[in-house]
Amino acid sequence: MSSIHLITSGKGGVGKSTLAASLGAALSKDGRQIVLVDTDIGLRSQDLFLNLESRVVFDLLDVTTGRCLLTQALLESPDLPGLFLLPAAQFARCKDLEPKKLRRVLSLLQQRFDFVLIDCPAGLERGLRNVLNACASDKITPSVLLVVTPDDLCIRAAERVASLLDAKGLPRPQLLVNRLSPDLIRSGDMYTAQTIAALLDLPLLGEIPEDPGIRLAQLRRRPLLAFDCEARSAILRIASRMAMDPGLPDSSLPALPAYGSSNPSLFRRVCRRLFPRKLKEVRL
Ligand code: ADP
Ligand code: MG
Repeated sequence: MSSIHLITSGKGGVGKSTLAASLGAALSKDGRQIVLVDTDIGLRSQDLFLNLESRVVFDLLDVTTGRCLLTQALLESPDLPGLFLLPAAQFARCKDLEPKKLRRVLSLLQQRFDFVLIDCPAGLERGLRNVLNACASDKITPSVLLVVTPDDLCIRAAERVASLLDAKGLPRPQLLVNRLSPDLIRSGDMYTAQTIAALLDLPLLGEIPEDPGIRLAQLRRRPLLAFDCEARSAILRIASRMAMDPGLPDSSLPALPAYGSSNPSLFRRVCRRLFPRKLKEVRL
């Protein structure tokens, strides 16, 4: 039986879909079978991130309403064998997705894949509630990854999601803090990931820096893992933490970088200014 991970946030635009796609890619690297379920009905994105938009024929809603078989809607990534997408419907509304039917689809996916990653819709409204209701079941028991960016509004919205999860009997989420800027942390203008985890009283699963590599990968329709950048290392680190046996103690997990906690030497800072790193493509 696979593990199901809900990738959620209280606010839109914080990087849920970006991180879900990249984590799916990173987890598929060791021969695992991964499925990404895009539940953002009306605004699908994963087909673009995985370079599959021209291949979408059927979607999640077609499966839940019985218009096609689950196998007909699943698409395999052209770049990463073993990474599959179940796309969201583009021309529908979130109320069309019935939680009970989604639960049935997730149970089937759980039997076939090693990891089921659910990219949740933005906000705290009906779209997210439908997905949470589908997952609030003894048969599913997902773990929840709560994505936050280091700003007060996002932290406030994350608090609301954490209470919503609690009210639905879902597990306590683990935090992914995205778009951290080591320079702003060092100058005292941005929270560290550890501070946000303490403020929300939630365990920290990973930290991802602000990185132009993410934007470039999306513009070129290439996986983030194809670019040698800091965000790539961050994603690989988080994926290996996710893939570790949950029974193991925290001390055996790959350590987090604590962006902004150390001061680079003057020499390094000058070199970085004079010779900004060019993004190199690497083998997947
Ligand atoms: P969500 O799914 O939460 O609405 P997206 O994954 O669509 O958010 O991301 C919104 C935008 O933020 C995208 O344009 C993406 O390229 C950008 N983005 C996300 N994370 C980062 C990052 N760590 N560094 C730079 N840009 C990022
Ligand atoms: Mg999204």
